[in-house]
Amino acid sequence: MPEETAASPKIKTRKPKQRACDEKDEKGKLCNGHLKRYYDYPKETAAVIGPKAEIYRCEFCKTLYRPDPVQQPQSYTLRN
Ligand SMILES: [Zn+2]
Repeated sequence: MPEETAASPKIKTRKPKQRACDEKDEKGKLCNGHLKRYYDYPKETAAVIGPKAEIYRCEFCKTLYRPDPVQQPQSYTLRN
């Protein structure tokens, strides 16, 4: 049975309007850590999400969050 690599980071996707971590610990307690934009991620993370990707990290449990795909930054909606 192949073992999971311990180094691979856990990456979740933010829910719409999500600003706090919703990971739970072993006791089922909500982490609720603030998700902060994460810039200097290590090479191992870059290998998964790509260089210069938009990524957020929980300040407590360090879970990584991709931006919510529905809430992409407003891109050129000026055409209307
Ligand atoms: Zn957390």
